Amino acid sequence: MSLFLQVVSVSKAVEEVRNIAIRCGDEPVPLMEALHRILAQDVRADVDIPGFTRSVVDGFAVRAADTTGSSDAIPSMFTYRGRVVMGAFADTPVKPGECIYVPTGGILPEGADAVVMIENTEQIGGEILVKKSVAYGENVLLFNEDFSRGDVVCTRGKKLSPRDIGVLAAAGCIQVPVVRMPKVGIISTGNELVPVSKKPLPGQIRDVNSYVVASFVREQGCIPIFFGIIRDDRDALRSVIGKAAAECDAVLISGGSSKDDRDMVAVVIGELGEVLIHGIAIAPGKPTIIGRCRNIPLIGLPGHPASAFIVLIAIVSHLFAGMTGKTENSIRVVQATLGQNVASSKGREDYVRVAVRDGIATPVLGKSGLLNTLVQSTGVVRVPADSEGLETGTRVEVILW
Ligand code: AMP
Ligand code: MG
Repeated sequence: MSLFLQVVSVSKAVEEVRNIAIRCGDEPVPLMEALHRILAQDVRADVDIPGFTRSVVDGFAVRAADTTGSSDAIPSMFTYRGRVVMGAFADTPVKPGECIYVPTGGILPEGADAVVMIENTEQIGGEILVKKSVAYGENVLLFNEDFSRGDVVCTRGKKLSPRDIGVLAAAGCIQVPVVRMPKVGIISTGNELVPVSKKPLPGQIRDVNSYVVASFVREQGCIPIFFGIIRDDRDALRSVIGKAAAECDAVLISGGSSKDDRDMVAVVIGELGEVLIHGIAIAPGKPTIIGRCRNIPLIGLPGHPASAFIVLIAIVSHLFAGMTGKTENSIRVVQATLGQNVASSKGREDYVRVAVRDGIATPVLGKSGLLNTLVQSTGVVRVPADSEGLETGTRVEVILW
C-alpha cells in the first residue's frame, strides 16, 4: 500500500459526496416550527390571494376614466355615495361620476376600478373634489393578483425564511412538509485530546473539533450526535464508528485521517465498509477521507480545526445539501480587493483566510494549526487549482465563515 495519499480534485470529491448522499424522508411540522427547515414538497395556495379586489390606501373608489385630467388647478367633482365598512360589501355600486369611501384593505365596490388617495381629495358638502387622476387598477390589489388558488407559493428544497413562513401562512399551510433533519455522528480521535472541562497537561490539547464540527452541522440544518473522544486504537475506533453508523445518517470523524502509522481512520473505514477517496487536492485539508458503510457516508476530517473547517465548507456542505434536498446555496460571499499577493501551488485548490476591512481583504497568515486565525479572519478566498496565485489589487470573492 502506498505511503502517500492519492489526491483527487475538489470537484471529484464533491461529486462523490453528492453520489453517496441519500435524501432523508419527509415529516410534517407545525408552521411555527418550520423556520430554517428544508421544504420537502411544493406548497400550493389553497385559496386565491387576495380573495377579493381590495384597496391598498384610504381613499375614494372611482371609475379611473372619470378622473382623467384632474389636477389641483382643475379638480373633478364626484357625488359621494357613502362608505365601505371593513370586511363588508358596499351597499351600492359606483356609477359614472360617483365615489365611495373605502379604507385600506376594504372591498373595492362594484363598478369602481381604482382608488384616489384621500390626500388628493377634498370634501365639499355632498361632493368630493378629486385633484389627481388615477389609472385603471391604481391603489388596488386585484383578485388573485398575488397568487391564484393552486399556484406554487414555495418550492421544494427551499430553506424556509421568516418571509417564507408568512407566505405559507397566507396559503393556509398549517402543517408544513419538511425533510427530516439528518442525524450526524461526531467523533474526535487522538490520544492527546482531553474534554473541554479539563485543563490540558503538557502534550494534551482540548477537543475543539467536536464543538466546531457540531456547530457547523447544526448550522446546516442537521442534528449533531456526540460519540466522544476516542483514542488512536483500532478496535476502539472500529466499535465506535460502527455504532455511530448504525445510529446516524452520516458520521464525521476528525483526526487520524492521514497515512501515518497512528492514522487508523481510513483502515477502519475500509474494514467496516469502503474508502472511496483518501486525499483531496485542497489546502488546508488534504488528508480527508470519503467512505461509506452500508449507505451511511463516513467522512474523515483532518485534525487541525482550521483544516477540518475548510473541508466542511468545501466538501461536507454538499453532502448535507444532498441529504436534505436543499436546492439553494447558503454560502454568503462579499466582494473585496486583495490587499497582498497570495501564492498558491498549481493543481491544488487553496483556501486563504482573510480579514476584510473597508473592502480590502488582507490574508491572515499563520500555520494551519493556529486557532487565532479562525477568529481573526472574516472568511476565506478560494484560489482555483489552475492558478499559481493572486496579485494585490485583484477583485476577489470572500466566502464568509
Ligand atoms: P491528526 O490529523 O490526528 O494528525 O491531527 C493533526 C493535528 O490536529 C494534531 O496537532 C492534533 O492534536 C490536532 N487535533 C486533532 N484532533 C483535534 C481536536 N478534536 N481538537 C483540536 N485539535 C485536534
Ligand atoms: Mg491524531
